[in-house]
Amino acid sequence: MPLLSSEVIADRVRQLATSISSTYANHDLLLVPILRGAFIFAADLARAITIDHRIDFLQLSSYKGTQSVGTVSVDKDLNTDITGRSVLIVEDIVDTGRTISTTLDILRDRNPASLEVVTLLSKPSPRHIDNSIRWTGFEIDDVFVVGYGLDLDGRYRNLPYIAKTTTTVGEAFL
Ligand code: 5GP
Repeated sequence: MPLLSSEVIADRVRQLATSISSTYANHDLLLVPILRGAFIFAADLARAITIDHRIDFLQLSSYKGTQSVGTVSVDKDLNTDITGRSVLIVEDIVDTGRTISTTLDILRDRNPASLEVVTLLSKPSPRHIDNSIRWTGFEIDDVFVVGYGLDLDGRYRNLPYIAKTTTTVGEAFL
């Protein structure tokens, strides 16, 4: 059974987009989805945001299977100069916060006008992070989830809903 159905997700994405649209009215907004997990959330969010904006992508590696690895590396950098722009990082899920914290460090050095985060999901882990997460779609328990862009070893990203998995057998309960 889905943890979050496609209808529940769609409603929340619309709410987030409304708030983001009013916050960044008259700003030079750049959405920065973190590939690959945020691509579906970002596609829906961008289409629900009613103000003009740009989109550029950052690809990071931080996870292997269901185990977090200690380092975060940049696989694909932005093609956009973010100096003076209002940058909104679009993340699928924040767990320990290591990925988002590294992303913030990298982008802060490039002098954006502002730098904030919208994450679809957030887990209750201890965080290595400041308070730059402005919008969170859903707080979830400490379970491994797939669907709506999130994968397990490359699979299940295409599910239109979000489901829990069992990590003991490494197979999803969908
Ligand atoms: P953090 O660096 O905050 O510990 O982990 C964030 C990244 O780990 C996410 O961008 C995502 O790629 C991955 N991740 C964390 N929890 C989950 C989960 O429950 N499911 C999936 N598919 N990926 C997760």
